Amino acid sequence: PMNRRPFIKLAVGASIASVYSKAQEPAAAPKKLGWALVGLGSLSKNQIAPALLKCERSKLAAVVTGTPAKGVEWREKYGLTEKQVYSYETFDKLIEDKDVDVVYIVLPNSMHHEYVIRAAKAGKHVFCEKPMANTAQECREMIAACEKAKVQLGVAYRCQFEPHHQEAIRFSREKVFGAVKHVNAEFGFKIGDPKQWRLRKDLAGGGGLMDVGVYALQACRYLTGEEPIEISALETKTDPVKFAEVDETITWQMKFASGATANCLTTYNFNGANNFTVTAEKGRFGMGPAYGYSGQKGWTSDPKVPFEFPATDHFVLEMDAFSKAIIDNKPFAPSGEEGLRDLLAVEAIYKSVKSGKAEKVEAV
Ligand code: NAD
Repeated sequence: PMNRRPFIKLAVGASIASVYSKAQEPAAAPKKLGWALVGLGSLSKNQIAPALLKCERSKLAAVVTGTPAKGVEWREKYGLTEKQVYSYETFDKLIEDKDVDVVYIVLPNSMHHEYVIRAAKAGKHVFCEKPMANTAQECREMIAACEKAKVQLGVAYRCQFEPHHQEAIRFSREKVFGAVKHVNAEFGFKIGDPKQWRLRKDLAGGGGLMDVGVYALQACRYLTGEEPIEISALETKTDPVKFAEVDETITWQMKFASGATANCLTTYNFNGANNFTVTAEKGRFGMGPAYGYSGQKGWTSDPKVPFEFPATDHFVLEMDAFSKAIIDNKPFAPSGEEGLRDLLAVEAIYKSVKSGKAEKVEAV
């Protein structure tokens, strides 16, 4: 039998050894979910794929493209195998790909509906670019398909993950400047190539409003924390040839249940509109630039309340947040319902442009 002294020595030695070896062990790498990108256009190429290389919880696991040459280019650039490159015809085979957890739909707006539903049927969680679809009815069908398949549906509203926007939301919720009374929000830009899908109603669903106006609309919703109940809108069109199918410039006003109001602008015809201002009971705050990939700047009416954060990659933040929600089995926001609520407001805006009257926003 062992006498006491060597036993203590052995035990202490063993525990030192175990502490020592634990310290030597690298921390277990966090689990990364595999993402499949559908549509290799400019957003996938310039923002999403580079962001995936920086993510902690997400990695590129497949691509879907209709252009074989792009498949070759992406294989070389991102070290993908032949099997990891799908076409729109082989898309549904994703069901057999165990390395793909999430399918990210980065196609023209009108195609979101079909591919979100097909991804859900393949048993994959789905992340969908904004605007979620061309109509509220399509959004409802996408939500239902994901519920049926028991997969999560996230909408890529990247600003909700950006620290300035998050701080602005905190100012509102915690009434740092008192209750929010009015929001002014604008986002637009001068669009180039007259042949692009963004100017075709069947593919884009609408013009500036569908593409970038939704950011201003979203901001009003998250800055008031309320849903618009009534909307009044008007459109101006200075180039009926270029904007034959879609809206050029729209301004709209919204009324919320608390009595708060919002005033918004979107355009495809000039640069510079990229901001919001919140007027609350005891002060004001705002951002400008507000909605681009970078360059966010905040200001407040009170010099004692700072509003400045370092630059972030919005795509890294939103994709990792979606992966984390799936890993932790927690609901993700912004979900499909957020996309649907925006489309309901968008439909009221277009209805008001046509009728020339204030229109009610349909309930979810
Ligand atoms: P894009 O034109 O650069 O790319 C679209 C891709 O879809 C291309 O690869 C194209 O080949 C493919 N495609 C497949 N079928 C097509 C068809 N019938 N017509 C046209 N293209 C077809 O567009 P994008 O800028 O990458 O936008 C894609 C989506 O991402 C849109 O829904 C857009 O609103 C959204 N988006 C979001 C942000 C953001 O900041 N979150 C920024 C830009 C675009």
